[in-house]
Amino acid sequence: MHRIIMGQLCGSSIRGSWDGFWDRCSRFFPCLADPARRSALGLKVALVLLHLIFVGVLFIFDEDLVGQTKRHPWYTAIYFLLLVATLAQYFLTSCTSPGYVLDAMRAVSETDALVRRTSVTSKQPASSKNGNVVITVDRDHLERNLLLPHANTWTKLVMDMYPPGSSVRTWTCSYCNVVQPPRAKHCHDCDRCVLQFDHHCVWLGTCIGQGNHCRFWWYILEETALCLWTGILYISYLKVHISKAWWVDVIMILLLVTLFISLAFLVLLLLFHTYLILTNQTTYELVRRRRIPYLRGIPERVYPFSRGVCRNLYQFCCASGTQHKMERLPTAQELEEKSRPYTCLDVLSCRCCC
Ligand SMILES: [Zn+2]
Ligand SMILES: [Zn+2]
Repeated sequence: MHRIIMGQLCGSSIRGSWDGFWDRCSRFFPCLADPARRSALGLKVALVLLHLIFVGVLFIFDEDLVGQTKRHPWYTAIYFLLLVATLAQYFLTSCTSPGYVLDAMRAVSETDALVRRTSVTSKQPASSKNGNVVITVDRDHLERNLLLPHANTWTKLVMDMYPPGSSVRTWTCSYCNVVQPPRAKHCHDCDRCVLQFDHHCVWLGTCIGQGNHCRFWWYILEETALCLWTGILYISYLKVHISKAWWVDVIMILLLVTLFISLAFLVLLLLFHTYLILTNQTTYELVRRRRIPYLRGIPERVYPFSRGVCRNLYQFCCASGTQHKMERLPTAQELEEKSRPYTCLDVLSCRCCC
């Protein structure tokens, strides 16, 4: 009985001191108080640790590599540069906004308010070319906008991108209560509508959309290169030191197998996203093609938003992070033109490229 009471007292005192410690930590680092931000931070710490383990184990056991570093420091310097660039790209991608519909809406409101103030009636609320809309976002002004009075401007702007006669209700997000432009989707993890929604990446802790898809692709490329290089270093070590100490071999082989699985996954992911970029599609559009209303009825091999490989690539690489680009739906005539079968003349004139 006495032992039980002592145990309970001990447990409550440990819990009390832990709560006190946690309160102090939360006061110094406010982000720790929010469970979502805490798990995102945990994920980032785990990622850095994972990279450090794979590289650290190599440099601890491989004496030849240490010797080679002394003889040719540039080789290891480039390797470490790739490691730092990959981690930097990871943090940059996860911190970049995927392009939220609400931000685009605010930008439209801001531009519209500016146009009204200067009484230049000839200007449009956003620059428009071929029915697509590019909105330049000045983030300093975003907080000082009047969103609701300009909701009609936004609705009109978005509804012009859909075929005539489309219902506003069909394209209104029931969670955000905003009219979604084509290719936007509500993310339940982020609880916001994302422009050109690709997928919600658990690894990065953010959505991949119009604003950060390019950075995401570069991150996969860098991670693939790093994984490949590290794998080669592991294989080089095992070729020379395979029977030196069995427990070291077990650790190295286990890490090499993990690297190989990660590499296979990364290469497939890189190829898949390259294909999506070249055809101007998103993962969501490809996977849910039959469920997305504006893609229903379009033949499988027709990419409705594609403007040719070169232009798709240019648009993907050179789109500014400060702009929100919204694409209108193609007309029936454009779709018919895209679904026209390829002829020898089309191949010679590189129809798929331009
Ligand atoms: Zn939404
Ligand atoms: Zn999301």
